[in-house]
Amino acid sequence: MPDVRHERTLIFIKPDGVQRGLVGEVLRRFERAGLKIIGLKMVQATPDFLEKHYPQTEDFLRTLGGKTREAFAAAGLDVKEQTGSDDPLAIGRAVRGWLIDYVASSPVVAFVLEGIQAVGTARKLVGDTLPFRAAPGTIRGDFSIDSPTVANLQRRPVRNLIHASGTVEEADFEIGLWFRPEELFAYRRVDEVLIQGE
Ligand code: GDP
Repeated sequence: MPDVRHERTLIFIKPDGVQRGLVGEVLRRFERAGLKIIGLKMVQATPDFLEKHYPQTEDFLRTLGGKTREAFAAAGLDVKEQTGSDDPLAIGRAVRGWLIDYVASSPVVAFVLEGIQAVGTARKLVGDTLPFRAAPGTIRGDFSIDSPTVANLQRRPVRNLIHASGTVEEADFEIGLWFRPEELFAYRRVDEVLIQGE
């Protein structure tokens, strides 16, 4: 059985979060929920590095492209006119390119969180990908305002402050990419003892 008590997830605060001075606020929200920071650093990610982080897999690109196509349609815009294609795969590739350029444009703060079902718990605290849909009380819901319609027209990624791994498999891969084993630390938080015992 997977060790859900010590699950790990990779988070990074994107350039908009760092530039708005939200690093402390974001860390506070994860810490107060009981997630343990086991590694933390500021990174200037290169486009080459981010090429590895954002997968080229058809699944990822199709989903991203499909969502973007829907957002154009919902805004009454002709996706082909705006992006040169109506194929989700091609649109996904374009959005991935915007994302890589943006994240590489300025430093980010990356960290690894550990705790009970850390991947799902972190995603819950982060909120929906699209700020206008992210619930109040979530990081994106409370601190970001953006819409895919505006972002797509400006050929840039939706500004939503933060990245959080989507699945345990994604988290394992991303943690290995961003952190060396000696950059991750083991210690006990007092609330671990209170909740789970010795
Ligand atoms: P996440 O896991 O919640 O970050 O969402 P995804 O993995 O689906 O997308 C990765 C990133 O691409 C998001 O965090 C946004 O910055 C950006 N993004 C997602 N959907 C769209 C979209 O429809 N249009 C644009 N311009 N950017 C998007």
